[in-house]
Amino acid sequence: MAVDYLCKMCKGHLKVKTSIILAASKMNSSQRGLVLLDPELGNYTTTTHPPFKIEEDAEYVYTCPICHSQLNSGKYKHLVRIIRVEEDGKEYDVYFSDIGGEKCTFKLGEDNIEIAGPDAPRYTKYFDVPEEYRKYL
Ligand SMILES: [Zn+2]
Repeated sequence: MAVDYLCKMCKGHLKVKTSIILAASKMNSSQRGLVLLDPELGNYTTTTHPPFKIEEDAEYVYTCPICHSQLNSGKYKHLVRIIRVEEDGKEYDVYFSDIGGEKCTFKLGEDNIEIAGPDAPRYTKYFDVPEEYRKYL
């Protein structure tokens, strides 16, 4: 399925071939680099180039490599927001954790949410969506 990912600020295309490309910098550290994420919801493969790596339990600031806007959510602590555009042109907010090693993804529709990852329960409190409109991937 051909989906696109856009920066929430500049609407620039973050996906190249089979990866989403973001800039990441470790909080309170000079460590920074580019990270490739898998566009498939629930796939937590990240690719970086050594010596830069995403460390378990460390917090990262993600920025758009095009406009340099911060993508970490101001509304939901520890979540990062990008926009997913599906084949039918519909746009969804997709959130993932800014903490290294945490596996959770939320795809927010108008009145429904798709949830993936074993760490998702930590953040479901943010999303006030009735159980019948929640889909667990
Ligand atoms: Zn941008």
